[in-house]
Amino acid sequence: MPETPVQDATSGVTATGRATGLVPPDAPPAYHRLLERLGQVSDLHAATTLLNWDEEVNMPPGGAAARAEQKATLNRLAHEAFTAPEVGQWLDELAGWEAQLDPESDAAALLRVTRRDYERARRVPPDLVAELARASSQGYQAWVEARSQQRFAVFAPALARLLELRRQMADALGYPEERYDALLEGHEPGMRTRQVRELFTRLKEGLVPLVQAIAERQDRVRDDFLHGDYPDAAQWELTLEALEAIGFDFQRGRQDRSIHPFTAPLATGDVRLTTRINPRVFGPAFFSSLHEGGHGLYEQGFPAAWHRTPLADGASSAVHESQSRLWENVIGRSREFWRFFFPRVQARFPQQLAGVDAEAMYRAVNRSRPSLIRVDADEVTYNLHIMLRFELELALLSGDLPVDDLPGAWREKTRAYLGIEPAHDVEGVLQDIHWSWGGFGYFPSYALGNLIALQLWEAALRDEPGLPEEIARGRLGGVLQWMRQHVHRHGARYEPLELVRRVTGAELSEQPFLRYIRRKYGELYGL
Ligand code: ZN
Repeated sequence: MPETPVQDATSGVTATGRATGLVPPDAPPAYHRLLERLGQVSDLHAATTLLNWDEEVNMPPGGAAARAEQKATLNRLAHEAFTAPEVGQWLDELAGWEAQLDPESDAAALLRVTRRDYERARRVPPDLVAELARASSQGYQAWVEARSQQRFAVFAPALARLLELRRQMADALGYPEERYDALLEGHEPGMRTRQVRELFTRLKEGLVPLVQAIAERQDRVRDDFLHGDYPDAAQWELTLEALEAIGFDFQRGRQDRSIHPFTAPLATGDVRLTTRINPRVFGPAFFSSLHEGGHGLYEQGFPAAWHRTPLADGASSAVHESQSRLWENVIGRSREFWRFFFPRVQARFPQQLAGVDAEAMYRAVNRSRPSLIRVDADEVTYNLHIMLRFELELALLSGDLPVDDLPGAWREKTRAYLGIEPAHDVEGVLQDIHWSWGGFGYFPSYALGNLIALQLWEAALRDEPGLPEEIARGRLGGVLQWMRQHVHRHGARYEPLELVRRVTGAELSEQPFLRYIRRKYGELYGL
């Protein structure tokens, strides 16, 4: 399998005598200065992340205005430090030395990633950034108001303004084929809109008939026993047990509570997760913790020597999402996992789960049904929610779809893909926060992450066919070890499509995901 040789993370020499570490012995002064600056930028970003984490976990409501100022100041300082003219001079000075480096070395990777990020950041006009920040906060307020009135029209003018600014931003950044490329690049470096469109078209053809078939057999899978009295404290303990089981290191991370679960990576040695517990249902908190735990394992797996550099980061949003979805769904919703984990859940909830066994639990946590809200969607229908958004974003950005026609287009696509229709805009076009702050180009990463997860999992099973049996015995370390070796230790070294190619020996494809979904749900629903 095409894989890079294992390298010493700090320094080393290949057989050809060329240095491979992050700081080669002959590194010029400009390289040391650059590393120092990247470290400062990374510290500023980590401080912003901590302020965000605190805002969601601890901050009293009265802190909101001051917190917005604090974050804006740190963001501005980080942007100024990174885009300063001397950074460009150092990169220019280093070009000759860089050409002599082993392209697979850490130093070459660092310069490649830094150059890419620097050039993109330099193209961003500061006035446009300020304008977007204002439009985002107005957009968010309009979105909140539109939701409370259940009227899209209240949000429409702000959305039109955000779209116009994003078009200007895309033009300032430049793009190889189409405007959307410029926005996609911010989340999936090196990937083109055309590639996403092709993958999604084939994925949709495979999924829509399957969703219809499952919708007609709803009585096959019951999950009623997951709803009832599931006290908070016992659920909390189970989320911690599950995180421990998958290998999340609590010496280098922690879990807290927030309204919207998320992962805040401050350093490889300090990764913060959050979860949210509803004491009336078992499942959402448990799988949310596994999801964030997957993000957290990735962050804990970057080489320690890369700390405070842009290499200590995920390859892309989609690759990050592949890790969370792997643990949440591929592992966490597998029959093998529940053979191992069910007794622990039943021990905490003996009355609630009386008469239920591991197989019934496996079936219940995999119940699939078309629903209107993306964040509640199961793994069969989830990607259709994403495709709908991707197609609408493309049409909005190009101007083919006028903003006023968006709610109608949303309803039409929801009916075509999921067979259901929202009664009002809050459970339709107003459900996601992303567009309220102008976050176009992000949605594809969620679905791409699902595809990458399954392509990685097939590769892992080719290497180690015994992994599922290990999971059934509660030994999840083999899965983590494989991901560490093939994905985590590369950090942001490779672009997402290159990483997939190197690790799996194939181009990114929708086929592994479709194979998995057809096999699993075909069996569950007797298709
Ligand atoms: Zn995620």
